Amino acid sequence: MIIGCHVNFTNEQLLGSAKQAASYGANAFMFYTGAPQNTIRKELSSDLKEQALRFMQENQMEMKNVICHAPYIINLANNKDPLKWQFSIQFLKQELTRCKFLGISYIVVHPGSAVGLEKEVALNNISEALNLIIDEEGPMILLETMAGKGSECGCILEEIKYILDHVHSKYIGVCIDSCHLNDAGYDLQDFNAFLEQFDQIIGIDKIHCVHLNDSKNILGSHKDRHENLGLGSIGFQTLLNIALNEQLKNVPKILETPYVEKLYPPYKFEIDSLKRGIQNENLIQNIIDFYK
Ligand code: FE
Ligand code: FE
Ligand code: ZN
Repeated sequence: MIIGCHVNFTNEQLLGSAKQAASYGANAFMFYTGAPQNTIRKELSSDLKEQALRFMQENQMEMKNVICHAPYIINLANNKDPLKWQFSIQFLKQELTRCKFLGISYIVVHPGSAVGLEKEVALNNISEALNLIIDEEGPMILLETMAGKGSECGCILEEIKYILDHVHSKYIGVCIDSCHLNDAGYDLQDFNAFLEQFDQIIGIDKIHCVHLNDSKNILGSHKDRHENLGLGSIGFQTLLNIALNEQLKNVPKILETPYVEKLYPPYKFEIDSLKRGIQNENLIQNIIDFYK
């Protein structure tokens, strides 16, 4: 199982992220190159990069299972303020350069929000921006399926398909997020049926990352609030089915579940239950006991 979680990217950069992931028993991880809510970025160190590569090798972590996530404040969908739109494009270009430097193959990007624009105009803006951003040496940009909060684009598979059709590169793919899919109205209880639908519209081969999260809200709620595995409306068994799906076995599964009491990372315990294939009935208490 290729399983990991969201980790921090602090002073130790990729080395720190890899160490944190290893401490949770993960063999994959996802990080933001800085705070997700801003675009202030520190210079990357080659020394720390080399140390990270060595650490990863010693801990059976492969670079192809390391994912970068672009900050969520950038919006490729709306160009009402041309300067802001250009800033988003320039910033993402720099993110790709940072990924290239680190040797990262995949960067997850939220398609963006229409905010006042017609859906089709917004989708065209996204495709146009991506055509300006994508580097023909990679990394691949993965569009994340969204919950449909506000005017978010990409909560309907056909919208993702529309963008992919208008981007002229092989360096474009998809990241599916189980919480977002649930909140967008896609029932994951029969995950194979969902995958078949996905395959018909987009193609399973386009999926290069799975965000594995339970949801605090019911199917079709358009809310986007992640929940710990087994404690939400999707449920442990369905999430385990996704994690074990044969067709996605080479795709990293990344947990973005909430910290317990906003303090304690749940990942060590959630990864452990997924590996064992058994729901931890005392998840929250075990996490609190371990970290307190
Ligand atoms: Fe995301
Ligand atoms: Fe996500
Ligand atoms: Zn989310």
